[in-house]
Amino acid sequence: MLLTISTTHQPTTDLGFLLHKHPDKLQSIELSMGKVQIFYPEASKAKTTVALVLDIDPIALVRGNRNLAGKSFALGQYVNDRPYVASSFMSVAIAKAFSTAMNGHCKKRPDLVSLALPLEVNISVLPAPKGGEILIRKLFEPLGYEVNLERHVLDEEFPAWGESRYFTVSLKNTIPLHLLLSHLYVLIPALDNDKHYYVSQNEIDKLLAKGKSWLPNHPEKEQIISRYLIHLSAFTKQALMRLNEDETKEEVEEPVAATSKKGTLHQQRLALVVEQLKATGAKSVLDLGCGEGKLIRRLLKHKQFEKIVGMDVAYSELLKCKERLHWEEMAPRQKARIELLQGALTYQDKRLSGFDAAALVEVIEHLDENRLPAFERVIFEFAQPKTIILTTPNAEYNVRFEQLKANTMRHRDHRFEWTRKGFETWATNLAKKYNYTVSFLPIGEFDAEVGAPSQMAIFNYGN
Ligand code: SAH
Repeated sequence: MLLTISTTHQPTTDLGFLLHKHPDKLQSIELSMGKVQIFYPEASKAKTTVALVLDIDPIALVRGNRNLAGKSFALGQYVNDRPYVASSFMSVAIAKAFSTAMNGHCKKRPDLVSLALPLEVNISVLPAPKGGEILIRKLFEPLGYEVNLERHVLDEEFPAWGESRYFTVSLKNTIPLHLLLSHLYVLIPALDNDKHYYVSQNEIDKLLAKGKSWLPNHPEKEQIISRYLIHLSAFTKQALMRLNEDETKEEVEEPVAATSKKGTLHQQRLALVVEQLKATGAKSVLDLGCGEGKLIRRLLKHKQFEKIVGMDVAYSELLKCKERLHWEEMAPRQKARIELLQGALTYQDKRLSGFDAAALVEVIEHLDENRLPAFERVIFEFAQPKTIILTTPNAEYNVRFEQLKANTMRHRDHRFEWTRKGFETWATNLAKKYNYTVSFLPIGEFDAEVGAPSQMAIFNYGN
């Protein structure tokens, strides 16, 4: 069974650093059911490819009394597809061969870990159950993969036997390597009906550890979890519950008390963002963490904004955004002004370069505080739009929300909420570090004691 991962990222040698595997060496790892060999069939300036060959030992499988295909008939234990397909064994092999990379560690080059790289995976044989092609697409496409597949016939000599459930698959995506590995780790066994493992608590832990950053927002998360856990409903329910506990509910809902004659606090906030963006004369605007696209819909009304790019980490939000925009019925000229991207603000991303302005409306408080430095570099150092408009709640105002219990945050997905002083200190230091100037505006009804409910920073590059 062969799996390859290629990149054209420059320099291509970075792949070796990330995988902790030297391109000139052939490495072998013994597993209980066979052997994994890792080598580089290609390591040129233009492209590097690493190959993982999994050599399953069918005898070892039987001895290990593994749960394998065809075990209902005597020879089925020896004659089955296991040695030839990407199955749950492949996940074991990936986890063993690339564990450091999958866990997002790279001592020598930590800067590479969260870098989005152009990656292509080729899986020589992937078994998929009923609904094969559609299912493969449903699992990978929401994560941003371009999927190409070729389905194999059962036997070329006997075309009448029809098609098999086996596919050769190519997957392309621009994402950090550790994410790609965790996608493969979860989705390959989810596609395969014959898993070698016995589902236990341990398997739920592994699934949640590898999937926590992307499964909550996957539109097929129920199916993935249930398939991964061999349709054991008690385990599936438990896994879903645990996943939902951390799930980010991504709507901006403000306590009612913040609503005034000028509309809800969020409406006031969005109106102020549009006003400020208009004043900068920006023609191209990024809406980062666009959610369901409330700001995009407002920006569209102004011809000044010729190019509007929305980005969000949650595919489900982008789907909602398309729906709210009535994407399918939209006039081509309007459509041409908009682009929606799936991506995370903590990963450097070339698609974000060259814009006049960026808006981040109620987004930063959803990022873990320890990821803020990564976010800061991605936006202020690499994307570097001329203007950045950023809003976040003012924590001091929370005492004015009667429904809000003392010392709680406004939203269960908020990782922090800053006071005015906290926000201003952070933003001022940030501006200084990346050659921006910054000014501040209150959002919503101003309260003499605790300030306004929300706050805005406006950054301008280099003046
Ligand atoms: N800006 C929108 C939505 C704010 S809610 C509005 O004002 O209505 C916060 C949004 O940030 C969510 O849609 C969430 O999916 C997105 N988000 C959270 N973490 C993110 C990350 N790391 N990268 C990109 N988007 C993220």
